Amino acid sequence: MAAALAPYAAIESNSRGRKYDEPSSKYRGEYQRDRDRIIHSTGFRRLVYKTQVFINHEGDLYRTRLTHSLEVSQIGRTIAVALQLNEALTEAICLAHDIGHTPFGHAGQDTLNMCMRDFGGFEHNLQSLRVVDVLEAKYADFAGLNLMFETREGILKHCSARNAHELGDVGERFLKRMQPSLEAQVSNIADAIAYNNHDVDDGFRAGLLSLSKLRTQSLFATHFDVVHERYPELDDRRLIYEIIRHMIGAVVSDLIEESRRRIDAAAPASIEDVRNAAQPLISMSDSMYEQHMSLKRFLRTHLYSHEQKLEMTRTVQAMINELFTTYMADETKMPAQFARAARKAEGIGRARVVADFIAGMTDRYAIAAHEALTA
Ligand code: MG
Repeated sequence: MAAALAPYAAIESNSRGRKYDEPSSKYRGEYQRDRDRIIHSTGFRRLVYKTQVFINHEGDLYRTRLTHSLEVSQIGRTIAVALQLNEALTEAICLAHDIGHTPFGHAGQDTLNMCMRDFGGFEHNLQSLRVVDVLEAKYADFAGLNLMFETREGILKHCSARNAHELGDVGERFLKRMQPSLEAQVSNIADAIAYNNHDVDDGFRAGLLSLSKLRTQSLFATHFDVVHERYPELDDRRLIYEIIRHMIGAVVSDLIEESRRRIDAAAPASIEDVRNAAQPLISMSDSMYEQHMSLKRFLRTHLYSHEQKLEMTRTVQAMINELFTTYMADETKMPAQFARAARKAEGIGRARVVADFIAGMTDRYAIAAHEALTA
């Protein structure tokens, strides 16, 4: 496999390695092992019951955090292979990118962040790193999953300067304004491509987005025209799927071609050159980026901020707020290991234990925990 990698890809022999040295595996590369550790983790399994946009019980066919992560990974791997990047690393980053996400999607994350405002805040992306670095309890010899530097670098997509200082090695690039690996850059954009497209599908399924509304978006309209002309009799469901397939194909192709152009122009000879580049090298063309961003804004207005969603947001805010306040006041309301950790911790540390507990909850666990408070 190594022979097929471009010189600017993440290559195991140039890796910054793991925090704790481990003997290498007989059958798997180091990034394959990372991917497997993520798949076997508790945090990953929880994603199946965590909201992406639609709450789990709203319907069985909506994306969850888990199916979202799988779609991100599938898109990321296609791009990685096309650009001769490290597929296993890309897959590992994509699968783990939301592993620290709270229950109830962005409403959950925003509320927990508000609860934590006097205690250093809560940021789901940083929490994803915290899950793999600290919270997973799987190994006898160390806390966390002891992932490779490049996997951790990719999981941490953004970070405040204050947090960057505390993080050490993976925080460094935010202070020095350096780029992450191309695999990390691919994973980041694969995330955006995945949700833009699957949210069109889910929004249409929920009846919140109509074809006529969607056709105000040039990316959608272009492919609507192509598909409709070719299959004028197609029913709406299959029409939408066909359009989404076309949209993903178009954005991914554009991204691969534009990135290849930028990589050729910058001619990085190694991953260090990628990290030192002034700009990310993985990018859509300007015109595609504009259409992609326009669709993203459209979804924000018509889907994420839809009254039906806002109602859910208010319910979630009340629930998370109450859980946080209760556990802060009485740690014995949490399971024994969290109660013990909270008792031992002081000040901010206590709030962090509570945030870790709440963030780890699935939607249905949070609902049950909240019901238990008032029982
Ligand atoms: Mg995501």
